[in-house]
Amino acid sequence: MKKVFRKTVSVLLCIAMLISMSIIGASATQRYTDCNGECQYYPTIIVPGLGQSNTWVLDDNGDFVLDDEGNKISSFPAYIKTDEVLSKVLVPAVLSLVLQRDAGLTEAASDVIRSCFGINTCDENAQPSPNVYTERYPYPVSECRDFETEEIFGHVPFDLYETEQPYDHMYYFAYNSFGNHFDLVNELYDFIQMVKEQTGHDKVNLVPLSQGASIVSAMLDYKPEVQNDLHKVIFVVPALDGSTIIGDVFNGRVSFLNKEYVYNGFLGESGLLDKGTAALIEMLFRILPDEVLMSALESAVNTLVGEIMVKSTGMWALCPSGDYPTAAEKYLSSPEMANIKAQTDRYYQAQLNSDRNIQNLVDNGVQVFCFVEYDVAMINVGETWNTQNADYIIHTDSTSMGAHFANVGETLPEDYVQQNTHCSDPTHNHISPDRVVDASTGLLPDTTFYFDGQRHDLTARNDVILKLALNLIESDRIQNVYSLPEFPQFNVARGSEKLVILVEQAKEIDPSTLSDEDAAELAAAIDEAEKVIDSTIGVVGEVEASEARVTACLVKAGVMEAPDEGGISLDIFMQISPWFYENFGTDGYSELIIRFTMKVMQTVVDTIVSFI
Ligand SMILES: [Zn+2]
Ligand SMILES: [Zn+2]
Repeated sequence: MKKVFRKTVSVLLCIAMLISMSIIGASATQRYTDCNGECQYYPTIIVPGLGQSNTWVLDDNGDFVLDDEGNKISSFPAYIKTDEVLSKVLVPAVLSLVLQRDAGLTEAASDVIRSCFGINTCDENAQPSPNVYTERYPYPVSECRDFETEEIFGHVPFDLYETEQPYDHMYYFAYNSFGNHFDLVNELYDFIQMVKEQTGHDKVNLVPLSQGASIVSAMLDYKPEVQNDLHKVIFVVPALDGSTIIGDVFNGRVSFLNKEYVYNGFLGESGLLDKGTAALIEMLFRILPDEVLMSALESAVNTLVGEIMVKSTGMWALCPSGDYPTAAEKYLSSPEMANIKAQTDRYYQAQLNSDRNIQNLVDNGVQVFCFVEYDVAMINVGETWNTQNADYIIHTDSTSMGAHFANVGETLPEDYVQQNTHCSDPTHNHISPDRVVDASTGLLPDTTFYFDGQRHDLTARNDVILKLALNLIESDRIQNVYSLPEFPQFNVARGSEKLVILVEQAKEIDPSTLSDEDAAELAAAIDEAEKVIDSTIGVVGEVEASEARVTACLVKAGVMEAPDEGGISLDIFMQISPWFYENFGTDGYSELIIRFTMKVMQTVVDTIVSFI
């Protein structure tokens, strides 16, 4: 009897366990698709770039910190508390100005950096602050709420273009750019497994953008088995070997800590401001003595790099392998940094193995594509900024997997011949029409697309890049750079967003209100603009020319005011600032006055002496 009872109990327990397991199982494999994994589309995961995920500031109770309008506050790239910043900097700044010496400004500069970037400081294990919340989307885009799709497409505007790819087969892997790189790799790996379960497919596509490529590259090294989960990888301007900006900054090669450069062209060459405004600001620097300004700048940089950036393994993964050993020696050799160094050393290995790991993917049947942008000088933050080709943010050696480039503004030597380092087909011409790059020297010459003059930070505005990426996501019709003539290997920078809006406005004009001649020009301008927009083969300057033509029609029809050509020109400062530099070096105005007075007095004394 006892035996029977025991048996019944154990059977009942087993049934209970099975039921509960099936419930857990059912919730774990929540399906968002009805294709059973048998449709032609591969679930695609976008792995975005630096700062392209929402990270919000939390208070110590884990609640969102809200601004005056009740909105959540972003922690990227910094959490700026205006009142706190002002209270730290106002008095020292005013005092330093009045007294013309450092009255606490250098210290205040450090304090301000700590106050703003403190939220992104990791601990000695490179773990980010619990006060940062990363907004994640563990479901396809089709399941996202409106504000979530807005965020996603705000970063990567795939929604602007037609695609066959169903949104229940599209995912966005959000992450904290300052986060722990090891954890990010594990999270991405788990995300891939989740996507497989949610869609029923056994392989996915990955679209790593910029910094996102560092996570994928690490994953290929730490978890090589992931290649079985991959159908295709589409690298878009990938930071596969970091960026020389970080390499320079981590090695103390910060260009704007050189005062001869700060007072003579740094801002003008940065590309952030027009040259007139840059020269005006350059002159404003002189209201402080140069030592004071430089000391405050140095203090800010040292705090930002030495206290904040060096604790982020996410940032270390952006340091080029060639710059890593010296930088690690400089910042990570102390015992308290040992845990961080163990992690960054491991990533360094992954970086060195990157090409081999990617080749391994290809050899195992995973399709790998790459988008490279070039011929835009690197932003001049690091001292090596103008020594190699770049896309403004990343040097091309990193994004192109080692392709050989002439420097920005230069071309390959006349007698240069294609090296065919990685291409074995003698009929292929991999030299760019502008003779700047030899694509045959990059790891994947037949599946890498190049965009001349395209700025990294404006990638999302390039409609051709987005259309090509969608094309690669939704089908396998593009096998290489020769598959579709409308997507050639070499293309150019562009952004058609503004033109699209102008055409919409132009189409609203009633042609019967115009003269025959103006109506004909309007129709022709619209026709030309639509051809430009639809074309995926860019011609340098055609978008701008078409914009001007449509704008002229809008102005003539009275729909738009003529673009303001006038306004105050600051170009005059482009002459004045260099004149000051030539004659007075880096001196501030007060030093200038003293020096000038001394000079006058000296002349007077000399004159008197000569009379005596
Ligand atoms: Zn499917
Ligand atoms: Zn080839």
